[in-house]
Amino acid sequence: MTSSDRTMLEWESPMYREAVGQFDQVARLMGLDENVADRLRFPQKATVVTFPFRRDTYRDVETLFGYRVQHLTTMGPTKGGIRFAPDVNLGEVAALAMLMTWKCAIVGVPFGGAKGGVRVDPLELSRAELQRVTRRFTMEIINVIGPETDIPAPDMGTNEQVMAWLMDTYSQHVGHAVPAVVTGKPPALGGSVARREATGRGLMFLLPQAAHHVGFDVAGARVAIHGFGNVGRYAAVAASEMGCRVVAVSDITGAIYRDDGLDVASVAKWVDEHRFLEGYPDADHIPGPDLFLVPCDVLVPAATQGVITRENAPSIQAKVIIEGANNPTNLDADEILRERGVFIVPDVLANAGGVTVSYFEWVQDVQKYFWTENEIVGRLREIMTRAFDDVLSIANSEGVDMRTAALIKGIRRVADAKLVRGIFP
Ligand code: GLU
Repeated sequence: MTSSDRTMLEWESPMYREAVGQFDQVARLMGLDENVADRLRFPQKATVVTFPFRRDTYRDVETLFGYRVQHLTTMGPTKGGIRFAPDVNLGEVAALAMLMTWKCAIVGVPFGGAKGGVRVDPLELSRAELQRVTRRFTMEIINVIGPETDIPAPDMGTNEQVMAWLMDTYSQHVGHAVPAVVTGKPPALGGSVARREATGRGLMFLLPQAAHHVGFDVAGARVAIHGFGNVGRYAAVAASEMGCRVVAVSDITGAIYRDDGLDVASVAKWVDEHRFLEGYPDADHIPGPDLFLVPCDVLVPAATQGVITRENAPSIQAKVIIEGANNPTNLDADEILRERGVFIVPDVLANAGGVTVSYFEWVQDVQKYFWTENEIVGRLREIMTRAFDDVLSIANSEGVDMRTAALIKGIRRVADAKLVRGIFP
């Protein structure tokens, strides 16, 4: 296969094709040097592993598939989450690693993008099984991660505890504690305060600017949030603290709706006690997909990819969409929404609060000097709001939408770095 034969790419998948398609569009618009563009279309390193996994019953041995993809190693270590999901694949992880590169560059965090995953349904695992999967997967990728090379974090289906096991496995391997190998850890292990809330909070830091741009008041604004996990839940908390009315939230069991606004604290308490929204007493229960159709000013997809589609985009009532999940809007839906005048704050900008506080966590671990919650939240707000202003001004000066403007900002920074480093040897 010659390098120009692009029909047999190992990471080929609809999601990877879409990420590259988006990149190509923006690269063309920017007049990006084709030599640089071609280096950025592909991940620099992709690791695929298979490993044995025994359930608690100890009868059968299953083979699990795991991935870690590092898209760009030009500007520092690579960074990005690890997801546990039943359908995760190399193409998905490669696409998400590329998005992480742009995300880091947009907020000016000195990392390249990475992403990893294990193809397993975390909801079916006992705690002991989850621990075994995490530790064995960590061993399988141990030579490609490290505090100066590649730093994992939580993503869909993983959490602080999973990061703690990852940190422990790595530390056992090298013989001393290495908190900086992973972010999103519990604070007792060198995790940062305010990391758990960072993505959801970061999304909502951008709401005043988006509302101002579109022309409505944040106070009393109706907000619908798809997902009530680590991102959606804290976005809901932040929105209600800002005086918004959170009218709908959802999880895999369905959606709940209340026209005069949900009591977010009581929903969160319910989920802590019952795991899912199912059965929550003080709201109407509606089918999960109907969350996208409720009357609202702000829609926050905060669960998974590909949920805003050509089918539901024409019926979405929100004036603003703030993308908490990675890649929640399909390209054709994006076009429909743009034509309808919906203002979209894209994932690579909107959900960058997570990796920004991950960066703070890594800096604190490396320096062994920890910051206060006020310092972290203040710096997060400053970085997020400045990135929004920069992207909006590119959107205005270039006459493009926010997604294109954000990608211009990210790609430009990365391309500049690549050009000044040159080619080895
Ligand atoms: N998984 C999160 C993301 O997609 C966080 C990554 C990180 O903190 O490194 O942005």
